Amino acid sequence: MATPLSAAAVLTALRAEGVRVVEVGSWRTHNRNQKGAWGPVNGSIVHHTVTKGTANTVAMVRDGYADLPGPLCHGMIAKDGQVHLVGWGRANHAGGGDPVVLKQVTNESYGSRPTPPTKGNLNGVDGNAHFYGWECENLGDGKDPWPTAQYDAIVRVQAALCRAHDWTAKSVIGHLEWSSDKVDPRGFTMAQLRTDVAERLTHPANWTPGSSTPTAPKKDTMEPIDVWLYKGKDETSDAYAYLRNTKIKLDAQDKKIDALTKAVAELTDLVKKG
Ligand SMILES: [Zn+2]
Repeated sequence: MATPLSAAAVLTALRAEGVRVVEVGSWRTHNRNQKGAWGPVNGSIVHHTVTKGTANTVAMVRDGYADLPGPLCHGMIAKDGQVHLVGWGRANHAGGGDPVVLKQVTNESYGSRPTPPTKGNLNGVDGNAHFYGWECENLGDGKDPWPTAQYDAIVRVQAALCRAHDWTAKSVIGHLEWSSDKVDPRGFTMAQLRTDVAERLTHPANWTPGSSTPTAPKKDTMEPIDVWLYKGKDETSDAYAYLRNTKIKLDAQDKKIDALTKAVAELTDLVKKG
């Protein structure tokens, strides 16, 4: 449960996650808040659009249609991976869904997938108050491909929200997991998407998949040279300097001892002769 991010905050979070954002018109204030609650938010829902062509898809999810006024989501994730923000606030995307699923998502208390929903659009609980919504440009026939750039953007958007709210990937579900009368998204599994979001969340927001994450040197690991450079508190010499100076002093003392030994031997001789 969380207060929805502000438009400015989501923009910052998305950009930090490496999402290429397109701001469409007055998206920050385009919403259905006059029709009902927006928040507290409990998660994010992924959809497919059953459309082809980015421009007309953006127009449709922004404006809606006769029976269903827009916005129909918060952002539309296009084939090329660009994310078109069309609204912020309550949006007509989730409709009715299963209260059992809402509880499982809120508590992130399910296994690889939530309990299959038995409630749907007409007899479920209001999802538009509780979820961010992301439409993805796809025909939804199970054959239309999901380009890597688009899928990567879906993962980044969901990870950005999880990161901002300190959620795990279990706060991300598909519309088909929310509502008994929905099938979207088709073409990848939500379990796989959650796995990929979870992986992303183990890296910094600016991580690019396939690149190794630079790891900061551990403070408790000393390189061999550091041992020589070690300096105790209030000491003016490092470890190497101490060792070198000690050797010089020992050599000097050796010479003194040699001289003293020689002097004692000479004195002994004198005593014996005397
Ligand atoms: Zn949907």
